[in-house]
Amino acid sequence: MTTQRFLLKGGKVLGAASSDLLISNGRIEAISKSISDETATVIDLKGSVVLPGLVDLHTHLREPGREDSETVASASRAGAKGGFTALSAMANTSPVADTAGVVEQVYRLGQEAGLVDVFPIGAVTQGLKGEQLSEIGAMADSVARVRVFSDDGNCVFDPLVMRRALEYIKKFDGVIAQHAQEPRLTVGSQMNEGIISSKLGLKGWPAIAEEAIIARDVLLADHVQSRLHICHVTTAGGVEIVRWAKARGIQVTAEVTPHHLLLTDDLASSYDPVFKVNPPLRTEHDVMALREALADGTIDIVATDHAPHTSETKDCEWAEASFGMIGLETALSIVTKTMVESGLLDWAGVAQRMSIAPAAIGRYANHGQELAVGSPAHITVINPTKSWVVDRDLVLSKSRNTPYHGYELPGLVTHTFFGGRATMIDSKVIDKVVQ
Ligand SMILES: [Zn+2]
Repeated sequence: MTTQRFLLKGGKVLGAASSDLLISNGRIEAISKSISDETATVIDLKGSVVLPGLVDLHTHLREPGREDSETVASASRAGAKGGFTALSAMANTSPVADTAGVVEQVYRLGQEAGLVDVFPIGAVTQGLKGEQLSEIGAMADSVARVRVFSDDGNCVFDPLVMRRALEYIKKFDGVIAQHAQEPRLTVGSQMNEGIISSKLGLKGWPAIAEEAIIARDVLLADHVQSRLHICHVTTAGGVEIVRWAKARGIQVTAEVTPHHLLLTDDLASSYDPVFKVNPPLRTEHDVMALREALADGTIDIVATDHAPHTSETKDCEWAEASFGMIGLETALSIVTKTMVESGLLDWAGVAQRMSIAPAAIGRYANHGQELAVGSPAHITVINPTKSWVVDRDLVLSKSRNTPYHGYELPGLVTHTFFGGRATMIDSKVIDKVVQ
């Protein structure tokens, strides 16, 4: 099979000095100041930044079961548009991804769509009920080679079940990704507990409900010497606990979503359910603590928690609306706005937190590699000098629940290469040619 050759001219690799990059046979064949190659398709990237393909550790693809809100194929297209070359399919589908059969189905759907690698996440417990461990070993041994396990959407609230899961996954170097939400403290919660929730009369979701579980689980991970990942940290207090745990050498990693780096709970005053999300938007103080933690490495990665919902479940009263917002197509722009433009991260730092580290946590061996000769050609190109306006009617996700409709965002993602194939050129997604 012959694959296309691409010569990327004059892009700034990780934001450093401009160079040329030759892609051939799915790999980076050469990087140097100036390359000429008459057989390659030349792409002018002057002024753009070249990054390793983005890896999302937390994506809701909704298939099987809610294909009306998203499919593996539509999420793959949205991913390519956002500069992603790998997505991690959360297990809260219908049926739940708690068996080898379901994770293999999701994995195959990803391969068929062919725009990104889809790595299924396995449920920790059967049916996400928090009681009996799921077929963790069978999922790990399946063709999907699952290494990340999560009941996301639900918290593994029983400490004994959590302990057993942490012990079990050590056999194959797995990791438990915990959605930290103490259920008894958040019954009926609608938004962050604070001044705004009191004013609006909406039931609050207190920061301590997140922090109590993070604290418990870092201690459990330490006790059984296993790997723990904290999904979507949202509070300044949660950051402090992760910082403490890391200083003690506990094997814990943490993620923050783009929306928690930018948006605050006062947006709920609009009563627009597009801002209803779990965990909820917090305060300005929390947002600043999260940015700082992402910059200093206390929080390891950015993960989207892309959560598509149909208009039937989202365009209704706040109290009835589903939790969640889409985020694949805007993630890199939000990180550019909150972290790069503020001077908190350089482009090498962005590559670390959106590609290298998430791939390392998920043990996705073929992703998150340095842009070096011989590496797989998973590449993302962003033009940081171009801004764009988000239009929910133009998103490639099947759902429209973006909180950024009408926002002008910096940084236009223009090209994505997945295993040497162009999945997006000039901001247009190129679907896999079925042969
Ligand atoms: Zn979650």
